[in-house]
Amino acid sequence: MDFLRGISDWKQTRVEKVRADMESVGRCPDCRGRGFTSSFTSVYLPTYDAIFDCPGCNGSGLYEDWCGNNT
Ligand SMILES: [Zn+2]
Repeated sequence: MDFLRGISDWKQTRVEKVRADMESVGRCPDCRGRGFTSSFTSVYLPTYDAIFDCPGCNGSGLYEDWCGNNT
């Protein structure tokens, strides 16, 4: 299924681009430097309960913290 592999490659490329962009500005790629993230459902039903500290950077929003947690 080349189609599925193409989707996978495309997603991976996007992830890499975000990571590179966030690295250049020193921000966590998971939360874009906000320090918090929200669950999937909050996209449709925003609630404060759905917002929690970003697990990638422990809420700091810093790339170096994210990097330390993901290597
Ligand atoms: Zn983060």
